[in-house]
Amino acid sequence: TPVIGVLALQGDVREHLIALAAADAVARPVRRPEELAEVDGLVIPGGESTTISKLAALFGLMEPLRARVADGMPVYGTCAGLIMLADKILDPRSGQETIGGIDMIVRRNAFGRQNESFEATVEVTGVGPVEGVFIRAPWVESVGARAEVLAEHGGHIVAVRQGNALATSFHPELTGDHRMHALFVDMVRDAR
Ligand code: GLN
Repeated sequence: TPVIGVLALQGDVREHLIALAAADAVARPVRRPEELAEVDGLVIPGGESTTISKLAALFGLMEPLRARVADGMPVYGTCAGLIMLADKILDPRSGQETIGGIDMIVRRNAFGRQNESFEATVEVTGVGPVEGVFIRAPWVESVGARAEVLAEHGGHIVAVRQGNALATSFHPELTGDHRMHALFVDMVRDAR
């Protein structure tokens, strides 16, 4: 059984732990570099990306996270987690850094300006229609050649995969539908 961590600095950690367990993984919170070293894959939850970035730096996790992602550890980011996996943020707040791993440029709070929060059915390549919960969600402004677009909503990219890195603008951990987590658990199994 794959052991999958959830980066537990800020955000909706508990919901991801529950979804991962439902998708047949052993799920545990990760707050320290030693805990990161023990997992086969990692979820970065939704929350507030500047806060997650600053806490990751404070907890000495930023470099270990970058190293493991560069080394091919499977990683799945939702919403703020998607922002953390972007190689570039279009409109970063001061001091905001990312782990990177996906050749994409993201726009923070992109959907939020018009509409703080909404749900929509999103067709995800390889998964099917998924109920997407968008909460002050980013979108992906553009992707590089190595990144594969898995879903769009309203003409904007909302799900991307590059190798072992997966990211969605929306929050599958809030719907009780565990297919996105099952896809990620499969990625972790394949990588082991
Ligand atoms: N808008 C948040 C950010 O920029 C993300 C929101 C979310 O994760 N639901 O980090």
